Amino acid sequence: MTTAVPTIGVLALQGDVREHARALEGAGARAVSVRRPEELERVDALVVPGGESTTMWRLARTFELLEPLRKRIEAGMPAYGSCAGMIMLADRVLDGVEGQETIGGIDMTVRRNAFGRQVDSFETSVPLEGMGDAPFHAVFIRAPWVESVGDGVRVIGRAEGGPNIGRIVAVRQGRLMATAFHPELTGDHRVHHYFADLVRRAMEEE
Ligand code: GLN
Repeated sequence: MTTAVPTIGVLALQGDVREHARALEGAGARAVSVRRPEELERVDALVVPGGESTTMWRLARTFELLEPLRKRIEAGMPAYGSCAGMIMLADRVLDGVEGQETIGGIDMTVRRNAFGRQVDSFETSVPLEGMGDAPFHAVFIRAPWVESVGDGVRVIGRAEGGPNIGRIVAVRQGRLMATAFHPELTGDHRVHHYFADLVRRAMEEE
């Protein structure tokens, strides 16, 4: 494994950007904000934070970032989305607002505010494949869940308790990954470490 320090952008249109930046730095990456297409060109990978996917979509349109984001992801840039970010990386969204678009990339259908219909936020443990034996303490805030995935998508985490136990809440498809919960809020940086390792490997392959 190389010790290269990847530059990982955090999409900074809206949402909990600072928390992700801190977690990425904790995982040995250099974190920078991405708000413009030129800034996107300078990063090795991208995190799409939690927040509100409808707002993020509208702002991405206004800032003319949607197409550049799609192009870079198609070209193989690693990306990780949490919560609203998971929605942004999904190819298909249920319960979105009229006309809601995503960046896409992960062959999955997510249901927006799925857990939130019953309870706004909750915490439960989620064992995560490839991230150690201890289950992850996962915080869900008006979270989506993954309703279904295509053949190329690996389910790496399911809710172990809470409402709708067993729901898919973490996935990976090649260089793309997404979690319905917010690992940036808990001080456990395993997900960010995992992503930073994925980015380092992708850089080696280039
Ligand atoms: N409900 C939000 C959305 O639709 C996601 C919530 C979150 O990111 N905490 O985008």
